[in-house]
Amino acid sequence: MIEYYDISGCYILRPWACSVWDHIRDFFDREIKLLGVENAYFPMFVSKSALEKEADHIADFAPEVAWVTKSGQSDLAEPIALRPTSETIMYPSFAKWIRSHRDLPLKINQWANVVRWEFKNPTPFLRTREFLWQEGHTAYETKPEADKEVLQILELYRRVYEEYLAVPVIKGKKSEKEKFAGGLYTTTVEAIIPSTGRGVQGATSHNLGQNFSKMFDILIEDNDRPGQKKHVWQNSWGLTTRTIGVMIMLHGDNKGLVLPPRVASLQAVIVPCGITASLSEADRAALMAYGKQVEDALRAGGIRVKFDDRDNYTPGYKFNHWELRGVPLRIEVGPRDMKNKQIVAVRRDTGEKTSHSVDNIATTAKTLLTTIQDSLLARATAVRDAHVRRIENWEDFVPALNAKCAVLAPWCDETPCEEDIKKSSAKVDTDDGSGAAMGAKSLCKPFEQPELKAGQKCVKCDKPAKVFCLFGRSY
Ligand code: AMP
Ligand code: ZN
Repeated sequence: MIEYYDISGCYILRPWACSVWDHIRDFFDREIKLLGVENAYFPMFVSKSALEKEADHIADFAPEVAWVTKSGQSDLAEPIALRPTSETIMYPSFAKWIRSHRDLPLKINQWANVVRWEFKNPTPFLRTREFLWQEGHTAYETKPEADKEVLQILELYRRVYEEYLAVPVIKGKKSEKEKFAGGLYTTTVEAIIPSTGRGVQGATSHNLGQNFSKMFDILIEDNDRPGQKKHVWQNSWGLTTRTIGVMIMLHGDNKGLVLPPRVASLQAVIVPCGITASLSEADRAALMAYGKQVEDALRAGGIRVKFDDRDNYTPGYKFNHWELRGVPLRIEVGPRDMKNKQIVAVRRDTGEKTSHSVDNIATTAKTLLTTIQDSLLARATAVRDAHVRRIENWEDFVPALNAKCAVLAPWCDETPCEEDIKKSSAKVDTDDGSGAAMGAKSLCKPFEQPELKAGQKCVKCDKPAKVFCLFGRSY
């Protein structure tokens, strides 16, 4: 999926990874266009003055901003930053493009790279210093319209994870501490990685309120107050190549990658088997033709398929080769299968082996691929559910984290309490790199809420609980 690179935190995405991103992009791009979003492209550089216009925003991003200070040997008159996100790059243009309510809504998206010089441990896909993403930026006349879109986009993010990557996610709202800097509120889809019990922020859809429109003077005339202006309501939303990392961690097994069929570069590979020394040249040629015929039928049925007809590798070698790469379905064709007009199908996710007639092979394979896609999500959901523990008492909090669970607990929804929870759930002496020493942060306040008991107290402090919040160690 990746190749390492000599700059820490930067990785090369190899074709096998890029093709997953392509599938995500195709889906998402199609869906946002149905919502009326248009693609544009803005420069990757941002001036210091634009970047620093929104104080909370820059306060949060400043430590991670990379700067260009020289061209050749000469210092630039004014250093310019590489975009960590493009609010401050796009909104001066929005101010020019939006003059009246007739210019609204404005819905812009760009597919781009951004740079965040993260100081936390870099991790391929999950936390990289340069990553690919889409960033949507929209403007509305009213808050309810903006609110509605925030959730429409979040639903698309859920679909990317669940329908394409077979990764179950929890939708919810971020706490004040964890929301996007400078925004009004942030919604998120959160995944949990069972092998570590750590949460990962899957993608975020923000309502920016009127904060940025005030800083960047994005105004329209106010029809209710002649001669007066009012500020627009804005959203921004982003999904990154982190998606690929979450998918890898969730489905991978001891044999390597397991790709969900909908994002797999190759969905099926055909491997000829049983070619022994005793097989005549004519029979060998017939078997290869049979394999090719299966390939053609699958391709005609819209399946991404390859006939691995390399004659310098054994079937066993090829099995490993494609298992390691996560191809969902292996189709074996041997002399006996050919005689019986059959094929053998082997599922990458379960190893299950079944024989099928070669007639209607494309339909058969499609059904198998759908079954694999569905069962990956079902299994991941069951495992995820087993790694979310609902608790009410603080004594149960850290033990749950240590048992590799995220914690769903009643909470007062206040920042000092969140900071206390983080501090109190960290172990000081055992940082072995596993994340076990890390304090828990709030992942989200899930939209789907258990009922709070009357008089329920916060899991940490003595205040009344306002909401159930998902906490966890995180990536
Ligand atoms: P933000 O603009 O900060 O809301 O980020 C949008 C999304 O990008 C987050 O929800 C994360 O899923 C993802 N993300 C943030 N930082 C990184 C990173 N360093 N590498 C990859 N993805 C990231
Ligand atoms: Zn509290």
